[in-house]
Amino acid sequence: MVQGDPWKNALKQLDDACHILKLDKGTRDYLAEPNKVLRVKLPVKMDNGKIRIFTGFRSQHNNDRGPYKGGIRYFNPEGGVEYMEKEVKALSAWMTWKCAVVDVPLGGGKGGIYVNPKTEKLSEGELERLTRRFAFAISEIIGPKKDIPAPDVYTTGKEMAQIMDVYGKLAGVEYEPGVITGKPLSQGGSLARNVATGLGCAYCIREAAKTLRLKLRGARVVIQGYGNAGTFTAEYLEKMGAKIIAISDSKGSIINQNGLDSKKVLAFKEKTGSVVGYPGSKKISTQDLLTTKCDILVPAALENQINAAVAKKLQCKIIAEAANGPTTPDADPVIYDKKIMVIPDILANSGGVCISYLEWVQNNMGYYWSFDEVASKMENHIVRGFRDTLALSKKHKIDMRRAAMVLAVGRVVEAFKAKGLWP
Ligand code: NAD
Repeated sequence: MVQGDPWKNALKQLDDACHILKLDKGTRDYLAEPNKVLRVKLPVKMDNGKIRIFTGFRSQHNNDRGPYKGGIRYFNPEGGVEYMEKEVKALSAWMTWKCAVVDVPLGGGKGGIYVNPKTEKLSEGELERLTRRFAFAISEIIGPKKDIPAPDVYTTGKEMAQIMDVYGKLAGVEYEPGVITGKPLSQGGSLARNVATGLGCAYCIREAAKTLRLKLRGARVVIQGYGNAGTFTAEYLEKMGAKIIAISDSKGSIINQNGLDSKKVLAFKEKTGSVVGYPGSKKISTQDLLTTKCDILVPAALENQINAAVAKKLQCKIIAEAANGPTTPDADPVIYDKKIMVIPDILANSGGVCISYLEWVQNNMGYYWSFDEVASKMENHIVRGFRDTLALSKKHKIDMRRAAMVLAVGRVVEAFKAKGLWP
């Protein structure tokens, strides 16, 4: 949840969970700070022959349940390099909780370079030299049993393959696919990785609908954001019988109460650059999209979309947070009072990390599963995560967001206590 100071938000969520779990201050402090934050200087020779210095980070939050896991982003947040360090720390903590909620045996990490490759128009060569320099700089602290990065904002399988290549050569093993996930299939990537977040989100929604005795067949769905997470959530919900009635992207929002064909809307967006103008649909405002009467609202775009004012006008039964941090903290009590079920981001969009985990497992054993095998293993993790969260939400009479944090923090503490402190 990135609003104001992301690090403060992360600590507030942790404190709430520690309070419910009645944890002592020492344990709380242990869980708060990352185990290690590495900040590296990255000198790169640019195409014009001059040297430019970039700054990179890797935050390793917690590894009590397994090696650190989390993305590497190339981004330049408005707050600058110092803000990015705080953001990366907070995101590494959320990775710890996300892995624990769905019970994958990994910890939490996050990293990045302060650079925007899109707006700065770095050439392919500059980007590759930057990526390889970063891989060199963090090579001592990553590894298949230490810390396993993945793609994130503005990084793709291409950068992952380059990092894997640098790591393998430095480690003297040449081929070490388990050091990183989100790789191209030809380099040890996993089937189903591209659909993972949307498919996982659809599984969560199916479980929520069962809990609320809401029939998915004919259920009305609104999707904000039509990128990777949004399109595959829409596609799989449609396969489960739901009707997509409204969709948005950065250019605007559209609605058709009779239903929109998710694949045809995507083809239209790919051809024209936006969902706006799709035949038979009407353009509406973002506010109207979010507050449209529907059964399921899927924010799959940006942070801070649903604040208290928007929450008061919501007319849905389920909110599935495919995006990270789409709901502001002041909206949560309003949503809870309206008895809308929120599937929090750390659960709703955990399909991606589940399949990253399964990619790592396949790399380690050197044997590769079919799409259906990977999807069904991911489904087991997600369904258990949902049910365990729901049980805690009922037990403590708290919303699903707090329940997911209580579940995750409880699991990490259990692992920490079982291992003990040494040295
Ligand atoms: P993406 O870049 O593929 O798509 C983002 C979509 O949001 C685009 O369609 C864009 O047009 C739209 N968008 C941007 N601004 C908008 C606005 N103001 N209103 C409506 N739509 C807008 O990104 P993605 O990978 O789908 O990620 C979306 C969200 O899901 C992010 O919060 C991301 O952190 C989260 N997430 C994604 C994954 C994953 O595996 N893709 C995993 C976990 C979390």
